[in-house]
This record gives sequence, C-alpha cells and structure tokens, in this order.
Amino acid sequence: MDNILNLHNLIGAASRISIAVHTHPDGDALGSGTGLLTILAGTFGKDAMLVLPDRIPDTLSFITGPENEGRVIDFTSDPEGSVARISSSDLIFCLDCNSFSRTASLEESLKASDATKVLIDHHLAPDTGSFDLVFSQTEISSTCELLFWTMMELPEFAGDASSLPARSAYAMMTGLTTDTNNFANSVFPTTFRMASLLIGAGVDRDAILNEIYNNYRENRLRLMGYMVGEKMKITSDGTAYMILSRYDQEKFDFKQGETEGFVNMPLAVRNVRMSIFLTEEENWFRVSVRSKRGTSANLYAKTWCNGGGHEQAAGGRLYFPQDINSPEDAEAYILETSHKFFEGR
Ligand code: 5GP
Ligand code: MN
Repeated sequence: MDNILNLHNLIGAASRISIAVHTHPDGDALGSGTGLLTILAGTFGKDAMLVLPDRIPDTLSFITGPENEGRVIDFTSDPEGSVARISSSDLIFCLDCNSFSRTASLEESLKASDATKVLIDHHLAPDTGSFDLVFSQTEISSTCELLFWTMMELPEFAGDASSLPARSAYAMMTGLTTDTNNFANSVFPTTFRMASLLIGAGVDRDAILNEIYNNYRENRLRLMGYMVGEKMKITSDGTAYMILSRYDQEKFDFKQGETEGFVNMPLAVRNVRMSIFLTEEENWFRVSVRSKRGTSANLYAKTWCNGGGHEQAAGGRLYFPQDINSPEDAEAYILETSHKFFEGR
C-alpha cells in the first residue's frame, strides 16, 4: 500500500497515540514532536501525547506552546506516567531518532509495546526492522522538513501549508531553523521551499529567531568566551576540541541546552577539519562532533564514541571507566583517536 495512504489509515483507526523523540531533545526533536502532536490532536481530534525521554531544556521551552498544555510528559519528571502512556497506546511515532535506543529512558517501553510503530527520521542507518511504517530520508535538512512534506501529502492539507495548525507550522519552522544552524548546513532546494511556504502561511520567522538566538542568559555567552578562549585546543591534524568539566559547569551555572552551537565555532578556523565538544555527565561524556565536507563526523562518532548521526554532524557518548579510565583521560583519548582517524584515511 502507498505509505501516505497507510499513514492516513493508521491515524484514522488509532484511538491513543504517543510520539517519542530522541534523548536530550533538540529543536528538531521538539519541533517535529510538537508539529505532529498539534496535527494529531487538533486537525484529527485524536488523543495524542508527546512523550519525552528527558525534560525540555529552558532554552527550548517556547516550542510546545499553551495549545499543548497537558499533552507533553517526560520520563524524568514522570517515569510511571510516561511508561504507562506508551504501554497503553495503539499507535506510536518515533521522530528524529533512528532506533529505540536513541530514546534512552523510553527504549524498554517502546520495545515492549505491541502498538503499530511509525518512524519519521533523517538520520543515517535507521533500524527499519523495528517499525511497521518508515519514512526515512537522509538527504533532507531535518525531521521537521520530512514531517512537513509528509503532512502536505495528507488529504487534510493537500499541499496547502496555510491549513496547518499555526503551532504546528511554528514548531516545524523552529526545528528547520535549528537543525540547519539557521540555513547554514544541510540545506536543499526543498528546505527553502518549505521555509517559503511556511512564511507565506504566516509563520513569524523573526519571533522564532529571537526565541532561538537572542534569549539566552548572560552566563551562556560568558561560558562560550571561556570555552573558546581558555579551553579550545587545535591539533596539527585539524581536530579542534573543547571539554566542559563538571567543575566548570558549576562555576558557570550551566543548564542543559546552553552550549548549543558551541561545537560549530571551531570550524571557523581555516585548518580545522573536525570539531569535538565533550560535556561531562555523571559517568560519561556527551560527545558532539562536527566536520567540514570531506571529513565524516558520523564515522568518527560511530568508530570512537558509541554514536553516529549525519555525515557532518554527529554525536555519541564516552563512558568511564569503560571507554576511558576517568574524566581526566578524555583529552588523551580525543588526541589519540582523532589522530588515528585522520592517519587511517
Ligand atoms: P548534537 O551534537 O547536536 O547533540 O547531535 C548531532 C547529531 O548527532 C544529531 O543528529 C543527533 O541525533 C546525533 N547524535 C547525538 N548524540 C548521539 C548519540 O549518542 N548516538 C547517536 N547514534 N547519535 C547521536
Ligand atoms: Mn534532527
């Protein structure tokens, strides 16, 4: 059966729908999650919930909107409620993650659920076998874009972006903007077309840009200056790295989401080919990797950091003591593995 027709039938027949996204949700995860949630609850009048693996960072709390109050839960604040919601759903969407494992805290309940499962995602190597219906495209800017074009094919919208619920349009424009780094990366002709249709439909791009880029606490800029000024190192291979320790997180009163974009900055240096940003957590480092064309951030994250993502933007984790003995060994690990990575090419 045609995928769109299949999707339309599944939504029509479902009585309880849940949407899950990847752990540490970013603008694309929350934008696509909110975009679809608002369509399912608003346009289709369904009992729909967005179930998040973690709390929404303050920096992105503007996305879901008052329209969706009571329709968003997260595992950190309400583990029992989140698991119960997933177990009792008959249709589940996974957005912006290529496998259940990327949902971390929700992985077990998603696996155990016998609901019909739909994947909408733009990452490399999707785990298609775990889903009943898959919308996967990697040559596209974002999950928000893939969701947008998929929704446009539904008879409810029939290609008319102005018939989308306003919150949906706003949220998808937000994820499109953050995942492309404000139209700097992963931009395709369809990306601008989507933006054009949404702006034509009345989405206030200036308001979105203000929320994303001009609404941080002062300490975020101070921390940025400190990381670039004091912490950034560049190797002779062209690897730039910064390590944000727990100590410095406390010193700058760091909150989740406030280092968004830091990893991109070292790419501004001419001879830097790859940039790595490490954030220390309880017994692991969160790893963000970015690369210039010709270098695969995905390959580095996959080979050395238990992760993956996209060719030029990827991430992963380094556990201690499994991958490195202690947090203090992170720098030596990055130096050694990035050198091997470039040497082996
Ligand atoms: P970010 O650096 O912005 O956290 O993530 C960049 C990209 O890498 C995103 O597309 C994200 O989904 C992916 N990514 C981040 N962390 C991980 C991870 O731990 N595992 C995998 N497979 N992908 C990740
Ligand atoms: Mn994404």
